[in-house]
Amino acid sequence: MAKDYYSALGVNKTASQDDIKKAFRQLAMKYHPDSTKEDKKVAEEKFKEISEAYEVLSDPEKRRMYDQTGSVDFGQGRSDFTWQDFSHFSDFDDLFSRFFGGGGTSDFFGGFRNQGPDLDLAVKVKVSLSDVFYGETKTVKFRRNKICEECNGTGAKNGKVATCRTCGGSGQQRYVQGQGFFKMVSVVTCKTCGGTGKIPLEQCPVCKGSGTLTITDTVDVNIPRGAPDNVKIRFRGHGQSQNGRTGDLYVIISITEEPGITRRNNDLYVQQEVSFPEATLGTELEMNLFREKVTLKVPPGTQPGESLRVKGLGFPIMNSNSRGDLHVRIMVSVPKKLSAREKELIAELGQMSPKKHSWFSK
Ligand SMILES: [Zn+2]
Ligand SMILES: [Zn+2]
Repeated sequence: MAKDYYSALGVNKTASQDDIKKAFRQLAMKYHPDSTKEDKKVAEEKFKEISEAYEVLSDPEKRRMYDQTGSVDFGQGRSDFTWQDFSHFSDFDDLFSRFFGGGGTSDFFGGFRNQGPDLDLAVKVKVSLSDVFYGETKTVKFRRNKICEECNGTGAKNGKVATCRTCGGSGQQRYVQGQGFFKMVSVVTCKTCGGTGKIPLEQCPVCKGSGTLTITDTVDVNIPRGAPDNVKIRFRGHGQSQNGRTGDLYVIISITEEPGITRRNNDLYVQQEVSFPEATLGTELEMNLFREKVTLKVPPGTQPGESLRVKGLGFPIMNSNSRGDLHVRIMVSVPKKLSAREKELIAELGQMSPKKHSWFSK
């Protein structure tokens, strides 16, 4: 049974291209993975359904085929269209610029596939907590392929190409199966030319006919201050190249743990040792926090293991000028070696009435 693309988009059979576009846009926003209020699984199915419907109905030729035969076969590449394809789009503008930008609706899927996820690269870069604290810049090196400049990506020596005879230059092959009413038309990418519609007369000597070269690329990554772990930063046009198109690079910031410092969201947790007299009488001391000096006020009578909270001296909060809190757990050190004079004084303290001194009460 053929799917009803019109009801999937909630339009009737006489709907104009504008109506279809508008309907799709609204539904796509509703079921977009990053914003949907629906159940994720349901939204996923729905999004696929409306995307498929839109692919057909927005293309006058496919729409006519669908109107006449009740089905359109997408041929090769259809199965590439998975939920993952959408999962990394950070926002709607991004999604819709790919869907609606530039060449109009007819290359909705074609363009999407070619410059889409299969050309995108992901590189993980390890950074320290301190790097994220200060928002350092890191140079990231990675391998990717790039369009061969010698042949301009054609793979042909001196750029001389001939029209592909298999597909006649369209880059696509069409297969018609069945008869009469139930005709099935499959459109697949031409295997001979890989969809370019052209074949080299003679191989380019630099890229050996592939049209691309493997290079080492570098990007400078400005780590956002206070970034969470595994944040993705996008670099347009630094992905893989194929058939004259280039994907994007995603740098994933992986934060390594720092000994002695624990980060929870925007709060930092550290320990600080103080002496018995300091804990007893109170003190003010300087602590190192990354490359900063933090003044800590230890109030009199601070207990071992007690946590002191310093507001606003924790981790930077991303996209803001404020910081979380710093939590300092106080450790009281007990001296193992004492001078004769120290021993004398402590012994003297110990001999004083237990009632007056809660620290000796046991
Ligand atoms: Zn070349
Ligand atoms: Zn071809």
